[in-house]
Amino acid sequence: MADSNFVLSDILRNNIRNITPYSTARDEFQGVALVNLDANENSFGSVGNGNYNRYPDPYQHELKQVVSKIKGMPVDQIFLGGSGSDEGIGLLYTAFCEPGVDNAIVCPPTYGMYGVSAEINDVACKEVPLTEDFQLQADKVIAAMDAHTKITWICSPNNPSGNSYDREAIRKVVVAAKGIVVIDEAYIDFSTEKSWLNELAKYPNLVVLQTFSKAWGLANCRLGMMFASKEIIAVINKIKLPYNMNGMTQKYACEILSKYASQKDDYVKEILAEREHLIPELEKIPSVRKIYPSDANFLLVKIDNAHEVYKFLVRQGIIVRDRTKVFLCEDCLRITVGTAKENKMLIEKLKEF
Ligand SMILES: *Cc1c(COP(=O)(O)O)cnc(C)c1O
Repeated sequence: MADSNFVLSDILRNNIRNITPYSTARDEFQGVALVNLDANENSFGSVGNGNYNRYPDPYQHELKQVVSKIKGMPVDQIFLGGSGSDEGIGLLYTAFCEPGVDNAIVCPPTYGMYGVSAEINDVACKEVPLTEDFQLQADKVIAAMDAHTKITWICSPNNPSGNSYDREAIRKVVVAAKGIVVIDEAYIDFSTEKSWLNELAKYPNLVVLQTFSKAWGLANCRLGMMFASKEIIAVINKIKLPYNMNGMTQKYACEILSKYASQKDDYVKEILAEREHLIPELEKIPSVRKIYPSDANFLLVKIDNAHEVYKFLVRQGIIVRDRTKVFLCEDCLRITVGTAKENKMLIEKLKEF
């Protein structure tokens, strides 16, 4: 390992270090029994025609095997969230940040959940802004760290700017941090950059978040992923809700993920092609001032009277994300790349404004 200074138990919260997790009936007995009278389920069946009366696998063993194959990561380095990767964000605060004492670092403008989840957990967030062209200021991030900085959030490709950060700037932060560094790769499937998954073995303080919500088109399933050392994942497993992913999602994802992995790649190709079509169309609109470089499935667009444009689009039944009140995103709308037809409608309406 490149950095041997990192001792996980040193940065865990005291109450978490020695916690005894809730032991589910499914933890104590795994396997197929003749008679299950241990979990107060309805042994007669479930209402309706489904087969939902038994509690699901708390650790999603089967699904993790599938994810392990797709991602090339060992099962014990995988945590799956049944409320998306947002679930992982909250659990990381619970594991590492003492409320009212510890702090985290965020680099605005970025994904809002890091800050919201910090507030919910009574954890202070230090803000180290990105540069005007949305790059990470590694030296300033490092300078902002103190003995109570437990988590540094890095979103790359970043939401809402769409760009990826310079890889060596990220590495600098990971190497310097005494706490954990989380790289949120929600948009990695669209990116020309390589994932940090392959670097987890080098950095014991690194956590990578990914999701099935974007490129895989499974936002409705709320299926998120967290990858880290097996020691960090063991801690997260101890503090997660006992049955954090329902059985329908587990079953469905097991059935489709390995079977349709190539369909994800096709979607990515289509979306990227549409993004490249959309850019020159937007550029033709006189009020468009700037389209920021995107490594994701959306574009951040600076446009005159952005807030008025947003409201006009809403009246036309077209919803984009109004980012005009976000730091460094004044006059900007964040536009998800849609289908060819949807993008055409957007462009037509923008021309009408
Ligand atoms: C969409 C998004 C997520 C949320 O992923 P879920 O798995 O749906 O919770 C996480 N991070 C970023 C940066 C996102 O844009």
